[in-house]
Amino acid sequence: MSPSSSAEDSSSPAVITCKAAVAWGAGEPLVMEEVELSPPHPHEIRIKVFSSSLCRSDISAWESQASSQAIFPRIFGHEASGIVESIGEGVTEFREGDHVLTVFTGECRTCRQCTSGKSNVCQVLGLERRGVMHSDQKTRFSIKGKPVFHYCAVSSFSEYTVVHSGCAVKVSPNAPLEKICLLSCGVAAGLGAAWNVAAVSEGSTVVIFGLGTVGLSVAQGARLKGASRIIGVDTNPDKCEKAKAFGVTEFINPSDSSEPIQQVIKRITDGGADYSFECIGDTGMITTALQSWHQGWGLTVTLGVPKVKPEMSAHYGLLLTGRTLKGTIFGGWKPKSDLPSLVDMYMNKEIEVDKFITHDLPFEDINTAFSLMREGKCLRCVIHMPR
Ligand SMILES: [Zn+2]
Ligand SMILES: [Zn+2]
Repeated sequence: MSPSSSAEDSSSPAVITCKAAVAWGAGEPLVMEEVELSPPHPHEIRIKVFSSSLCRSDISAWESQASSQAIFPRIFGHEASGIVESIGEGVTEFREGDHVLTVFTGECRTCRQCTSGKSNVCQVLGLERRGVMHSDQKTRFSIKGKPVFHYCAVSSFSEYTVVHSGCAVKVSPNAPLEKICLLSCGVAAGLGAAWNVAAVSEGSTVVIFGLGTVGLSVAQGARLKGASRIIGVDTNPDKCEKAKAFGVTEFINPSDSSEPIQQVIKRITDGGADYSFECIGDTGMITTALQSWHQGWGLTVTLGVPKVKPEMSAHYGLLLTGRTLKGTIFGGWKPKSDLPSLVDMYMNKEIEVDKFITHDLPFEDINTAFSLMREGKCLRCVIHMPR
């Protein structure tokens, strides 16, 4: 980083230049660029990114050819940890040097949904899809004066970034930033789906479709709540052994059987599972998940982000007989209220995070992480920023 202009008032943060991995087009390798980053605006903070893990959602948005997603040039990355470098006007919650996690869905603590006690989806700082900041619909990054767009108003594949203070969570300075970045999205989302959304009960049978980080974290959550059978479904045979380490008791590869997967599950579970989780982002699979759960009380939780067809269809009779379908974003966690306690649970060895990290890579090798994720050869690649 280097100040590109000397601020007249030395206490005001200046524009800085830093390195960022910029995506110039859908599916094109990222290019390391010198970018300008503005000072934090009111109620924003500027963060020195410490580590950032690559999440499947980054890949989906980067690959997407859909016009609504084709926002370039853009800086991806949303699962990150960092240290506060400077604060904007009106920020009282953070100070320079605070350790933080970024979050892709914020918590303003004042809107109707934040105060409802019924939802973790903030009306003010919810998922940002247009590549800009929530407050003024503008970017904080630029190259030679031209805007570079954000992703989820986080953009952590950069040495420094600016986020709204409602999209960062202060964490204990004792927690290892290079590990806890995983709690910023995928691992927390899976645990929350099992605990907050489904409330998996002891002795129950759980089916998980899709054994990436989110699905395996659902497995971890279900195991910790005492589920007796955790059936993992994935077309990648390499997932079988890995999944057992996270609590999956049985593995089914739909490609190995000519029998429809929902029939296999009903047959081996005496009528259907108590809980099923769709962690793929395939709306067709949601119907399969619905058909796999038990008549009368079965619950399906969907937490994958659809990559292609967002509409879903299923016979209404599935629901008439007492089954429930629930959707969730970030596992129902309110980031500011709940993430610090998840970090504490990690520090107390009550939840597993390290096991999800299959690769540690320096920032300059970020394209390797994108290739590994695209080919299904990793769970989490943690990208470490230069120190
Ligand atoms: Zn994510
Ligand atoms: Zn809110």
